[in-house]
Amino acid sequence: MPSKDNSHQTSSLNQQKDSNFLSQFSASDEQKEWFSPTPKGYQKGRTKFVVVIGTVMSGLGKGIFSSSLAKLLKDKGLAVAPIKMEGYLNIDSGTLNPFRHGEVFVLEDGLETDMDLGTYERILEQNLSRRNFVTAGQIYGDILDRERRGDFLGRDVQMIPHVTGTVKMHLRQLAMTGGPNGGPADVVFVEVGGTAGDYENGFYIEALRELAFEEGPESTCFVALTYILEPATLGEQKSKAAQLGIKRLMECGVQPQVIACRATNPVTEKVMQKIGMFSNVPLNRIFSMHDRESIYFIPDAMREAGLDREILSLLQLHNRVNAGKEDQSRRKWSEFSSRLVAPRSRRVTIGVMGKYASLRDAYASIDKAVEHCGIWLNASIDLKWMDTSTLESKADVAAVLQGVDGIIVPGGFGQRGVEGKILCVEYARTTRLPFLGICLGFQMAVIEFARNVLGLANANSTEFDPKTAHAFISELPDQKKLEGIVGASMRLGAQDVAIEPGSFAEHLYKARMVRERFRHRYEVEPQYIDALSKAGLHFSGRHPKHPIMQVLELSASEHPCFVAAQFHPELTSRPTMPQPLFMGLIAAALIRKHPQAAADELISRWLNASAATAAAR
Ligand code: GLN
Repeated sequence: MPSKDNSHQTSSLNQQKDSNFLSQFSASDEQKEWFSPTPKGYQKGRTKFVVVIGTVMSGLGKGIFSSSLAKLLKDKGLAVAPIKMEGYLNIDSGTLNPFRHGEVFVLEDGLETDMDLGTYERILEQNLSRRNFVTAGQIYGDILDRERRGDFLGRDVQMIPHVTGTVKMHLRQLAMTGGPNGGPADVVFVEVGGTAGDYENGFYIEALRELAFEEGPESTCFVALTYILEPATLGEQKSKAAQLGIKRLMECGVQPQVIACRATNPVTEKVMQKIGMFSNVPLNRIFSMHDRESIYFIPDAMREAGLDREILSLLQLHNRVNAGKEDQSRRKWSEFSSRLVAPRSRRVTIGVMGKYASLRDAYASIDKAVEHCGIWLNASIDLKWMDTSTLESKADVAAVLQGVDGIIVPGGFGQRGVEGKILCVEYARTTRLPFLGICLGFQMAVIEFARNVLGLANANSTEFDPKTAHAFISELPDQKKLEGIVGASMRLGAQDVAIEPGSFAEHLYKARMVRERFRHRYEVEPQYIDALSKAGLHFSGRHPKHPIMQVLELSASEHPCFVAAQFHPELTSRPTMPQPLFMGLIAAALIRKHPQAAADELISRWLNASAATAAAR
């Protein structure tokens, strides 16, 4: 699917807003005491809402819960649209530090979101857009824009009804457009960030209470996700914290219809009875969501507990179920689950040479992309997270990469750890260690090659040495005009990548045109492309029209797997559609580690898997 020519598009605050959004409000909306704007053509009752609110504490996996439940309904043929509502004032997650907040997940349309959107995309195997993510900053920004535009006709602008009204408008707009091809959704799944009682998300909970009232009975289902304590000193589960948490939600005027209890061990009936008693929820709508071996078991566990049927009944959705579609989806998922539980006979170690070595969340999608390959290639993969800022010499690198069967050099910003990354690329290139470079890792591969093969010792990126005589990596043309505007100047979102026939990249993708997601400010300086190519660094993925280099590789005779991408391949890996470049890396690492052990079988499995991926994409 070719895109419009936005080869060097960068984002700005205005672009980040949905231009249609503000035009949906009509002047008559503001005159009423009760401000409840609806988009034109909105049909009340067409779309139902499932709202997941955390109690007791955050970090319970609201996103995993909500996406697993949405998956069950999607599998039944319903159109589902998830939305994450964040309490923070940032407009998006682009400026958040991955060390504090986990990775920044980039959507097709270029919005930089929280890593939870990655969970939704992976579990639902569905691409999302800016409509699926809202922050308090966006809501207030919209209102302040309208206030300056004079939309409020002399009224004072208030939290209720204006802020809550704007939240409802977002939800209804998603209801109308969040389904396939921009059509209506059957169910919108709302995840409210934080927990009930947080100061900053209170207006979302109030807006959702109003929404449920306005949409009418059987339109909205509130799920309280709570936590059951099990102190080691007592050796039994205690329900009090959960009771208090749910009560806090009820104080906001929200009566949950369903309660999901997160816990380490299966929640006892006694505890569930107690919780039900204090919160007016019958036992058949209280579920034990205890820890499982894998998050991929959660959808089946929910189905076994009857959670999907309860939701269908509460929202009167039984008549929208497509049984044929459900059978088909369940067959696909059970094939995936049986691969997941199959004993893994081979083990490899992959080094991730980053700078947030202590936090897996900072590279969450890489972790998942590798996991997907392990499932498809029937391999146990140990990820070794390493901080390259401590690597100062070839000897340091050789020492830490002892016993490592392949490396990933991930994306990143800023100087710290960069020279260590270059040393790692050099080690991988010269010792034929399978290598996958991502974004900054791609740029480092170019610089390493320029320094060590072309012999230009001071080759660099202008990000790290603005005055370098050999700027092999330099700013995007638009970025040069936008200096100093942090978070407003990157090439973001999905772009087409033309893959060179006969290349390793084509072998992996089984396609000549692919779409991948970008998030960068710098790129290969076009004047050096020829020199690099002549010396053996092939650019096998390019922008279809412009001299923007997007995939590089060494030829098969030079190296078993030396490939890097200017984009972020980890963002498009899905459980049943592993990402081809990751598959190439892991397969090559497996073959390196187990050369004698049925390499042919491995290769054919890898080829089949990448063919399946290509067919599904
Ligand atoms: N810092 C580099 C750039 O801006 C790489 C970005 C990244 O790895 N996401 O181009």
